Amino acid sequence: MDCIFCKIAAGEIPSNKVYEDDLILAFHDIAPAAPMHVLFIPKAHIAGVREITAENAAVVAHIFSVIPQVANKLGISDYRVVSNNGADAGQTVHHLHFHLLGGATLGGMV
Ligand code: AMP
Ligand code: ZN
Repeated sequence: MDCIFCKIAAGEIPSNKVYEDDLILAFHDIAPAAPMHVLFIPKAHIAGVREITAENAAVVAHIFSVIPQVANKLGISDYRVVSNNGADAGQTVHHLHFHLLGGATLGGMV
């Protein structure tokens, strides 16, 4: 599958990692939309939130357990976590990811 985040997870494309374990990876967004902009992905391919099921949801809970740890490590106490799903919502990479945005007073949601 030609998926850029699968390639990042496999180490085939470099990324600026902030966290990694067997199941997930977090790395700085290449085009940050805020002073702190980190992406959290499962290493296994899930296309997006619409493809989360009871069978694969554990990795999502794991991501959300790690987000506060990474935010602490990066020194941000106030932040937003978002996931775009579908073209109208701005999804450009069809591998589940959660944006962690912070480091400034953030603007409106849309
Ligand atoms: P979305 O538009 O919600 O699908 O988010 C995809 C995000 O991936 C965008 O914020 C991009 O800037 C980011 N992105 C794309 N390619 C890379 C890459 N090679 N390394 C880091 N971030 C990337
Ligand atoms: Zn993928």
